[in-house]
Amino acid sequence: MKQSKLFMPTLREVPADAEAISHQLLLRAGFMRQNASGIYSYLPLAKRVLSKIEGIVREEMENAGAQELLMPAIQPAELWEETGRWDIYGPELMRLTDRHDRRFALGATHEELITSLVRDELNSYKKLPVNLFQIQMKYRDERRPRFGLLRGREFIMKDAYSFHSTQESLDAEYENMFNAYSNIFSRVGLEFRPVVADSGAIGGKDTHEFHALAAIGEDTIVYSNESNYAANLEMAETLDQYPRQAAEPEALEEVHTGDAKTIESVGEYLGVKSEESIKTVIFKTEQGLVMALVRGDHEVNDIKLKNHVGALDITMATDEEIEEALHSKPGTLGPIGTDMRIVADYAVRSLTNAVCGANKAETHYIHVDPSRDFAAEYTDLRFAIEGDASPDGQGIVQFARGIEVGQVFKLGTRYSEGMNATFLDEGGKAQPLIMGCYGIGVSRTLSAVVEQHYDERGIIWPKAIAPFDIHLIVVNAKNEEQLSLGESLYADLTKAGYSVLLDDRKERAGVKFADADLIGVPVRINVGKMASEGIVELKSRAGGETQEVSQADLAERVRALYDSL
Ligand code: ATP
Ligand code: MG
Repeated sequence: MKQSKLFMPTLREVPADAEAISHQLLLRAGFMRQNASGIYSYLPLAKRVLSKIEGIVREEMENAGAQELLMPAIQPAELWEETGRWDIYGPELMRLTDRHDRRFALGATHEELITSLVRDELNSYKKLPVNLFQIQMKYRDERRPRFGLLRGREFIMKDAYSFHSTQESLDAEYENMFNAYSNIFSRVGLEFRPVVADSGAIGGKDTHEFHALAAIGEDTIVYSNESNYAANLEMAETLDQYPRQAAEPEALEEVHTGDAKTIESVGEYLGVKSEESIKTVIFKTEQGLVMALVRGDHEVNDIKLKNHVGALDITMATDEEIEEALHSKPGTLGPIGTDMRIVADYAVRSLTNAVCGANKAETHYIHVDPSRDFAAEYTDLRFAIEGDASPDGQGIVQFARGIEVGQVFKLGTRYSEGMNATFLDEGGKAQPLIMGCYGIGVSRTLSAVVEQHYDERGIIWPKAIAPFDIHLIVVNAKNEEQLSLGESLYADLTKAGYSVLLDDRKERAGVKFADADLIGVPVRINVGKMASEGIVELKSRAGGETQEVSQADLAERVRALYDSL
């Protein structure tokens, strides 16, 4: 490809609203443009990278036995009504009507569509298992599209769905996909971690997310410093390992605490530490209000609470709802003398002389003994903190930020039951299909790779997904000798199987080098002043020495450099 013809509109200025480094670099280097919030065009350089990522995904999926198909982006509303998700999915689902007022959704995901496709076909255990995948645009009207391709409203996803007659078969396929994902993310050049995750609204039980480690990541990953334990913060377990507070329980006492409302200010007022008080937070679920208790220095994990009570939806209760139920305002809430459902963290149970709100203005209790003073369901209810013991008993946990690039789920029969997708088992009995689903954010992966591979001058593509293998720069394209050597090397290298970008533009050398650093092709060859002697410069974008190489030796030296990357 000749750079003089390449549509690669670079920018000198970093757009003000681009916060993520990948977003800035991809805009500056002319890989993409925004057309509307969270909606982008992938320009030729990005399209080349996407094709390579897709190629790796396709190869690994096919090696793992999955088959590619392509489903429509436009899906009839009726399918989503069969599973109830037309209502549950909410405003993220982009909806439209046709000229006959028929309702449709733009595919945010394809469980319903694929289940409708297979339900009449995969009707015998003999036809199972099957794993089908596609690579396609997905649509989600995200509340906050941001960070460029990392959170778009239109984005490219690889989604796969597997169908099984037994749980063992699903378990085996889950592991198979888990391994395929590990191969894919290694091959695209990501430093990543598989983490235990929450299954959220999609339903199902076992699930892992694959996270690319990067500071911009929206998720916190909790991992052990000694084992390969890793979990999303939402799911990271904490152990019930709290020594009982030393002091003997004293008589419960009501005390005036003035306008102190926070754990800290009440603690200061009474001269007690945060870890000697009980924090009370009220949540609202479709089952009613629930009181959550954690130790004063801990935070309530709402996902753990949601899972414990088996709620579909959970939000913080409003001040009005709390006042109506407890006749008190946040700041002086507590578990004593209420008939609200109480769920408490294990750490609360180990307290003996604790402080908590008295559900009365300007008043708290002291010398609270949980086992004596109120009844609660005890469970692991708090967010993990750095330094906690690792749940697998090996080492302590640390935190890192991650970008979710993929996820594998065991869906079970959530969709097949809702959509009446059954097969006949060996005994001739109809059973719901057992399902798994497996997603990869292809466009998000492109950005995640940039988040891990750049320097102050631009992107440094891992060679497996670079838009070109070699950037061949004719330093002065007005010089005939340089240009003709450049063109002859271009022909040789192309013939040798490399994809080569030839910078034949009549630009200043400084501009050319800056652009080359920005777009980040892994191997660089400069054809400059020594062209008359048949000598060129060879180096890698990532750094290292610049070699002067004769035309005769070039093929071998390029191969050695390329293979070393
Ligand atoms: P998130 O929690 O980041 O919103 P999700 O868990 O809802 O993502 P899935 O339904 O698991 O996403 O989709 C599969 C994959 O698609 C994700 O692992 C992610 O890589 C990608 N993905 C999801 N939402 C977006 C988005 N808005 N923009 C780009 N990629 C996305
Ligand atoms: Mg996910």
